[in-house]
Amino acid sequence: MKAAPRDQQRLLDLQELDSSLDRLAHRRRTLPEIAELAALQERANELRDRLVTAETDVSDLDREQVKAEQDVDQVRVRAERDSKRLDSGMVTSAKDLASLQSELASLQRRQGDLEEVVLEIMERREEAEGKVVALRAERAELEAALAEVTARKDRAEQEIDGQAELTRSARAGVAADIPADLLALHEKLREQFGGVGTAPLTRGQCQGCMLALNTSDLNRIRAAAPDDVVRCEECRRILVRTPESGL
Ligand SMILES: [Zn+2]
Repeated sequence: MKAAPRDQQRLLDLQELDSSLDRLAHRRRTLPEIAELAALQERANELRDRLVTAETDVSDLDREQVKAEQDVDQVRVRAERDSKRLDSGMVTSAKDLASLQSELASLQRRQGDLEEVVLEIMERREEAEGKVVALRAERAELEAALAEVTARKDRAEQEIDGQAELTRSARAGVAADIPADLLALHEKLREQFGGVGTAPLTRGQCQGCMLALNTSDLNRIRAAAPDDVVRCEECRRILVRTPESGL
């Protein structure tokens, strides 16, 4: 392939812009905020599960409390009934009176025990409620952190996108100067060789694969016409001669 030396030089400018675009895309893909967000999101998911468990504990204890209070009421109603019968003076037999008094005493003991149960449930409920409050506070903190990191990521992406936009338009300007066949070869090689299609020859070394060219390759390049498009024998990239090529 033939191309004017000036066009070959422009290809180096184009490669620089291509590499800048690749670096920008890499930076966008590997923003630290992406990993930060993933870690925060994982914590948020775990927290959501813990919160559901704690909230379930509270509602379970609510139900337990209602049930325990009903038990207390039941015993209290029976005790009140017994107490009224005792006070009514209608029970006169000593044996019945004794039996009624003994039942009343036992009901009062039972009521006391059941009230203890209610208190114990209320204590556990308070503890569970405390856990819910703490977890909700933690969730609010986590949501604030998520919002902060998301905003930081958006700003970083916008900045990168702005730079990429400028670089792309500069690239379009340079690409317009380069003959179509040379440009197509560069694009093909770029795709093939990890983003670098064209490299300068610097002090006898290909800057694409970083290998030093041997004497016969260097001699071949020395003998080539200025408008010959030279390729690296090692990596096949387009090799552009510069004043620093050491030829
Ligand atoms: Zn090479």
